Amino acid sequence: GSSVEVDPGVEVDEEIAEDDLLGGLKIDSTEDIEVPDRLVDQVIGQDEARDIIIKAAKQRRHVMMIGSPGTGKSMLAKAMSQLLPQEDLQDVLVYHNPDDGNEPKVRTVPAGKGEQIIDAHKEEARKRNQMRSILMWIIIAIIIGYAILSPASILLGILAAGIVWLIFRYTNRGSDAMVPNMIVNNGDKRTAPFEDATGAHAGALLGDVRHDPFQSGGMETPSHDRVEPGSIHQANKGVLFVDEINTLDVRTQQKLMTAIQEGEFSITGQSERSSGAMVQTEPVPCDFIMIAAGNLDAMENMHPALRNRIKGYGYEVYMEDTIEDTPEMRRKYARFIAQEVERDGRLPHFTADAVEELILEAKRRSGRKNHLTLHFRTLGGLVRVAGDIARSEDREFTTREDVLQAKGRSRSIEQQLADDYIERRKDYELQVAEGGVEGRVNGLAVMGEDSGIMLPVMAEIAPAQGGGQVIATGQLKEMAEESVQNVSAIIKKFSDVDLSEKDIHIQFVQTGQQGVDGDSASITVATAVISALEDIPVDQTVAMTGSLSVRGDVLPVGGVTHKIEAAAKAGCKKVIIPAANEQDVMIEEEYEEMVEIIPCSNISEVLDVALMGEPKKDSLVDRLKSITGSAFDQGTVG
Ligand code: ADP
Repeated sequence: GSSVEVDPGVEVDEEIAEDDLLGGLKIDSTEDIEVPDRLVDQVIGQDEARDIIIKAAKQRRHVMMIGSPGTGKSMLAKAMSQLLPQEDLQDVLVYHNPDDGNEPKVRTVPAGKGEQIIDAHKEEARKRNQMRSILMWIIIAIIIGYAILSPASILLGILAAGIVWLIFRYTNRGSDAMVPNMIVNNGDKRTAPFEDATGAHAGALLGDVRHDPFQSGGMETPSHDRVEPGSIHQANKGVLFVDEINTLDVRTQQKLMTAIQEGEFSITGQSERSSGAMVQTEPVPCDFIMIAAGNLDAMENMHPALRNRIKGYGYEVYMEDTIEDTPEMRRKYARFIAQEVERDGRLPHFTADAVEELILEAKRRSGRKNHLTLHFRTLGGLVRVAGDIARSEDREFTTREDVLQAKGRSRSIEQQLADDYIERRKDYELQVAEGGVEGRVNGLAVMGEDSGIMLPVMAEIAPAQGGGQVIATGQLKEMAEESVQNVSAIIKKFSDVDLSEKDIHIQFVQTGQQGVDGDSASITVATAVISALEDIPVDQTVAMTGSLSVRGDVLPVGGVTHKIEAAAKAGCKKVIIPAANEQDVMIEEEYEEMVEIIPCSNISEVLDVALMGEPKKDSLVDRLKSITGSAFDQGTVG
């Protein structure tokens, strides 16, 4: 918590707040929600980062922000610029240096003054020009008069006109050269500058001097007029934000560090062979607060000296990915939608049930019990797609239907891949979703962040050619070995089969997929092995996910919601999930009728659901029940 807490300015029904998706907000649509003016008050979650930004703004310290994209790093950096004093702002002017044209002079004046100076110079130049033209016309008139009076000397007249023209050209250039070049103009700034230099090349970051194709002969642009500021100069007295800081090349990072240390940095041409490289200005002020951002990886690849600099003179802060789901938070998520609608300016406001659907989506995307995702950029994307649907149909409000439709459209690449994959597999009938098969179990895995996929596992038992071993292929080999190890501890207890005399082959059907997480498939492997070992078929309308302990407990896994949806899409009728994950299930309505969700806490329960063919199965499950879980403890201890 902090001093900047802002409630949406709407009546809240505290009695229902706890269970209400809107946290008790009494609204018809997001139109009723008040959006705070200051950006810092619009930031949702990230309390620590926000407090640090507020503190760093007061103390003028640098900040390093580490975290996932779209969680508010640049938003906070921008918010910081609004917190900085505006009265410090300056304009920067570059003047011609009469002593050395290649070393332009630099002057700093209070913001707004630059404009006046330029105007005064222009006015002076204009007056001088005017004087000069009047003078010229007088001379021309004299020459013409002279020529009329004495036609013989017309040649002399032309010569005189040429001289006048030359004088005019040169004096004109001279007066242009006297008008300074304002490279930083803060005249109409209402807040301190915010410069986003993410991905900027050296010239854009550090300033540059343009190449001049006409380097002499009176045609050249004076060097001070070719000087261009860099982001570091434009960020003077404000905030310089650099995301993916490690992508800056090392030399540029070094120069950036010098700029931070000195608080001023001369501008010179960045391309070595251009005429700009001969020019170097006097130092230009660049007294900014640096906010460097990136993921953890980026921090490791960052120039160590630069990192130490920021660390030593500032703060480092991690951005959160999820936040605990409370009524207050849900109210803020409703406000988030209002903020995004307002920022976009063209989207219709969201109805209360459209907001509810989005909050539900934020819960689902968190992938964590009682949490909401803080990946706001993608959530904002969903808001815009849904709003665009409503707008394209000229409706006054964005509805729940629009949100549901938008979710279909804004599927991630992984989700599209997974769906596509399921479609293709259906074509090839790889998906057995009927009857019973020995040793074959429908496992479930997660692809990417938000996509589930069905992943059938086959187990086969063969007499060992030597010591028994687990034979599995592909990236899931290790997991397969571990699950077999866990299950063999259980098998020993109830079966006469000596696993050390058997080879166990585990095959994951069609895992050409990258990024499949196999951690959570150990009950799948165990079920397949037991089925193969005991010759009991597995019901192919069942899919499952869960991790297995040596004691036979089913342990929780990630991504259950996506996995259940994948099973439903593939045509399964029942899905086994760890009982401990029951509260993480947030599947969409359309799937609710398609599958039955069966929470299990023990492998015997899993087998009870998954295996087919009574008496044999029942006796196996009974035997298992007596030895797993607490019974298993007694078995080992006693
Ligand atoms: P990052 O810099 O971390 O990649 P941004 O700050 O650019 O992310 O976030 C993108 C957009 O998402 C913001 O402009 C804002 O609309 C929204 N957003 C991101 N984080 C938050 C947050 N914590 N609270 C409210 N809105 C946010």
